[in-house]
Amino acid sequence: MRAFEMQDRKDTKMTAELINGKDIAARVRQQVAAGVQARREQGLRAPGLAVVLVGNDPASQVYVGSKRKACEEAGILSLSYDLPADTSQEALEALVDELNENPAVDGILVQLPLPEHLDADPILVKIRPDKDVDGFHPFNIGRLVQRRPELRPCTPAGIITLLDSVGTPYKGQHAVIVGASNIVGRPMAMELLLKGATVTITHRFTKDLAKFVGEADIVIAAAGKPGLVKGEWIKPGATVIDVGINRMEDGKLKGDIEFEPAAERAAYITPVPGGVGPMTIATLLENTLFSANELHQD
Ligand code: NAD
Repeated sequence: MRAFEMQDRKDTKMTAELINGKDIAARVRQQVAAGVQARREQGLRAPGLAVVLVGNDPASQVYVGSKRKACEEAGILSLSYDLPADTSQEALEALVDELNENPAVDGILVQLPLPEHLDADPILVKIRPDKDVDGFHPFNIGRLVQRRPELRPCTPAGIITLLDSVGTPYKGQHAVIVGASNIVGRPMAMELLLKGATVTITHRFTKDLAKFVGEADIVIAAAGKPGLVKGEWIKPGATVIDVGINRMEDGKLKGDIEFEPAAERAAYITPVPGGVGPMTIATLLENTLFSANELHQD
């Protein structure tokens, strides 16, 4: 009985090293703050980020609040535009035109999702590519595809910072991405390809997801389905990144990967929360500083 208990305890032991996104994001934010300070010491203006929120979606309000606070802590000027829910397409596009021309603004962020009567695509395309700090404009996606990234989508770029932090070798590794969205899966594939990994993108029509995940040296899960990726699928020694943020009935956040069994097999794993999430805002700040330093030398 005692032996069984010991064995049982051994079986549930987490062997993976945790990739602490909170700590790594804090380090990135400090680096951005130092970069902003260095600009100021040269007599240059603080970088400026315009954050546009339309309506009063509670989750969007929380995200926007965190982005504004993070800007202020890094010394980035945060310009807030809170518009009523019944704002017209024309009025929103006119605001983007105005921000495009404003020399104090290095980055423009329009918080998604927009209220239903608004069409996000023409607005995202209207943001000048050199101010597109979310990296969603077709120009910036095109740059990434052509191996000359400029402003990179924040979540995938933040994941590369996490993978770099544990010395991921990339070249010759098989990276399997679960999810093919415009904001995570697809740009993630381009980032990993750029690093020299062999990349497979899986999605809702993929047959035998377990087979693909089982072959992966690097797993990136971004499907928005709690526990979709089973721990037993993970190849021993793999690096496992969970992008999923799923709010459960008990109010807790859960990722797309079964954490405990995956952590028994992986070499490195990100938690949810505290893994990828904090990196997205940290990378947004990096992009805003990059835009001020490299794209708007005034
Ligand atoms: P999305 O809904 O736009 O895309 C989901 C993708 O998953 C689709 O390509 C779909 O084909 C695929 N998918 C669905 N079911 C699947 C299955 N059974 N097998 C394989 N693929 C499947 O989602 P998104 O916007 O990319 O977000 C994905 C998740 O990541 C969500 O939980 C979201 O909250 C989270 N997210 C987190 C951050 C962050 O900062 N941490 C940023 C963006 C998104």
